Amino acid sequence: MAHWQNWSGRLSSTPDQMAFIYSEEQAGALAKAASEKAKSVRAVGAGHSHKELVADGDIIVDLQALAGVMSVDESKGSAWVGGGSKIHTLGPALARHGLALPNQGDIDQQSISGATATGTHGTGATLQNLSSRVIGARIALASGEVVECSKDQNNELWQASRLHLGAFGLITALELNCVPAYRLQEQSWKLPLGELLADLDSYVANNRHCEFFWYPQTDSANLKVINTTDDAAQYPLGAEGQRCGWNYEVLPNHRPHLHTEMEYSVPASAGPACMQAIQNLLNTTFTDVRWPVEYRTLAADDVWMSTAYQRDTVTISVHQGAELPDEAYYRACEEVFLEFDGRPHWGKCNYLSGTQLAGQHTKWRDWWTMRDRVDPQGTFLNPYLKSIRP
Ligand SMILES: Cc1cc2nc3c(=O)[nH]c(=O)nc-3n(C[C@H](O)[C@H](O)[C@H](O)COP(=O)(O)OP(=O)(O)OC[C@H]3O[C@@H](n4cnc5c(N)ncnc54)[C@H](O)[C@@H]3O)c2cc1C
Repeated sequence: MAHWQNWSGRLSSTPDQMAFIYSEEQAGALAKAASEKAKSVRAVGAGHSHKELVADGDIIVDLQALAGVMSVDESKGSAWVGGGSKIHTLGPALARHGLALPNQGDIDQQSISGATATGTHGTGATLQNLSSRVIGARIALASGEVVECSKDQNNELWQASRLHLGAFGLITALELNCVPAYRLQEQSWKLPLGELLADLDSYVANNRHCEFFWYPQTDSANLKVINTTDDAAQYPLGAEGQRCGWNYEVLPNHRPHLHTEMEYSVPASAGPACMQAIQNLLNTTFTDVRWPVEYRTLAADDVWMSTAYQRDTVTISVHQGAELPDEAYYRACEEVFLEFDGRPHWGKCNYLSGTQLAGQHTKWRDWWTMRDRVDPQGTFLNPYLKSIRP
């Protein structure tokens, strides 16, 4: 029997079939055949999402073989990459062409289509999420056709599918807007949370990347700042917090401890107050939680379903061990986040209804209308997406 489970092991599925895709032609044929048989299809990237995005398709499709940098347009500073490419493979491959992603998340094990599906981001007040990098896509639709979309071609499909939730079709390739390759120097130190919050604005404004982790039941936070440097890379690379190297060597971290996570995006100006409200909740009610709270910044973008759509953002993440109960804690945090006009990360835990999500995303109806146009039978919907659809 086919079996799939996500990274944390908290979500699993026994689909009728796990399918492995090696060509666009195969992707189109699979989508068409599934649609004709009224089977549901969900693609999987690296399975790093905590939300029920992959589980319970009749067919779960792995596109990891469609990987690598396929072509580069040096005049545009862009690259077409295979839709199944793991982010960690893209760093060195783009660098060979003098290009880089302007930012990436805490880890680099995700697939590029999985990461853009959910608006995956790193930290940096002037830096947008990965979905905002998507300037073109090739998608195998339920009709079997493989369509290309961009600003100039099938514009609305492009707009909608930059953050796609796996709901439009199988993404076989993405065109990414890159920047010239760059090196980074990282610094990290511990300090009391109160002291950090007092100077937070200047840490955020004066560093390309700034984030901190606060450890509940302690006064201690770990601040990390990263900036571009002309210094040569220093090998062997230092430990996290001390690295100097290429962007793709310094930005990702090793996060081996299995956990679940809830993350909300709040307006940037509300970040410190929201952080203090979460701190208060942990100090008063959830005194047994030891997993840290993470604070990052994210620039506004124009991606329809982005949590940073048209607003500069602070993201705050709460975590719990994968083996521990988390729902009461996360629901209490969610209440706090909602008081600060928070929008949940698409790939992490949340308990919002479709009506609540519709109230947060001004392009909600447009996104669903576009999705339904290319997949009228709902081949690429799963129970979670059906539960929130208008
Ligand atoms: C340890 C850890 C660290 C993390 N760090 C961060 C972080 O720093 N910042 C952040 O924002 N998030 C972070 N996340 C969340 C993670 O980046 C997102 O959940 C991301 O979507 C996972 O990518 P994936 O490749 O594993 O996709 P999956 O979880 O496998 O899939 C996500 C969605 O993408 C769709 N999909 C995948 N591939 C395709 C394809 N080829 N065609 C169509 N649809 C597709 C799936 O159907 C699904 O809807 C982290 C998660 C973990 C477990």
